[in-house]
Amino acid sequence: MNRITDYFWKSERLSFYKQTRNGLLGTDYSSKFSPWLANGSLSARMIYWEVQRYEKEIQKNESTYWLIFELIWRDYFKYISLKHGNAIFHLGGILDKKYTWDSNSEIFLKWTEGKTAEPFVNANMIELKKTGFMSNRGRQNVASFFAKSMLMDWRMGAAYFEQQLIDYDAHSNWGNWLYVAGVGNDPRDRKFNIKLQADRYDAKGQYQKRWLQNTLFE
Ligand SMILES: Cc1cc2nc3c(=O)[nH]c(=O)nc-3n(C[C@H](O)[C@H](O)[C@H](O)COP(=O)(O)OP(=O)(O)OC[C@H]3O[C@@H](n4cnc5c(N)ncnc54)[C@H](O)[C@@H]3O)c2cc1C
Repeated sequence: MNRITDYFWKSERLSFYKQTRNGLLGTDYSSKFSPWLANGSLSARMIYWEVQRYEKEIQKNESTYWLIFELIWRDYFKYISLKHGNAIFHLGGILDKKYTWDSNSEIFLKWTEGKTAEPFVNANMIELKKTGFMSNRGRQNVASFFAKSMLMDWRMGAAYFEQQLIDYDAHSNWGNWLYVAGVGNDPRDRKFNIKLQADRYDAKGQYQKRWLQNTLFE
């Protein structure tokens, strides 16, 4: 509730959510509500009604709409697991896709330790290891790299997230992994261009410097 007070009422960062939500560094690029949603101390309904009040008392804009839109993704993944049950944990996912996957433990460990050939992936994996958190932009990139570039069994990646994330939620985690791995709600077999993503979202390399430099001095 303190976080709602800070993010909505004190800093009014909610008014800029749509522009900042793909950020990587700092406390205020996104709401950071997820750990409290995951452990049940905040509910999506409560946030919804607080946004309604904000729209009346402060401002209604694309950003206030967008936070609700993201919460609907969270609900949607709950619906997906209700609908598909254990299939969300199957290699072929809810689409029963027959891709070929690798499960090499050395490749897996390098990914978890932030020692891949992609500095942007490494920085995100180090943040996850040290803090238990990673931005949504980061999660999409490291998951796509794992499943779609390294062609690793996406369930190993999802299980590692399950172990590490302070906001771990079965529906959102496995639902997003299914989606990114191309065995879930997105039937397109897409893969992120990690270098382009790093150029777009970390143009000055500040995020990468934050996590990669620290590691060098340990
Ligand atoms: C591979 C992968 C794994 C993920 N695992 C989890 C997980 O275990 N737990 C979890 O809560 N989120 C997960 N997410 C979704 C998303 O990354 C986080 O909810 C978000 O980064 C949390 O930060 P925030 O609260 O500041 O988000 P904000 O951007 O402020 O969004 C507000 C809220 O909307 C919901 N939300 C936003 N994006 C998504 C999304 N893509 N899917 C579902 N709900 C969303 C969350 O409840 C979030 O707290 C995952 C995403 C990916 C790509």
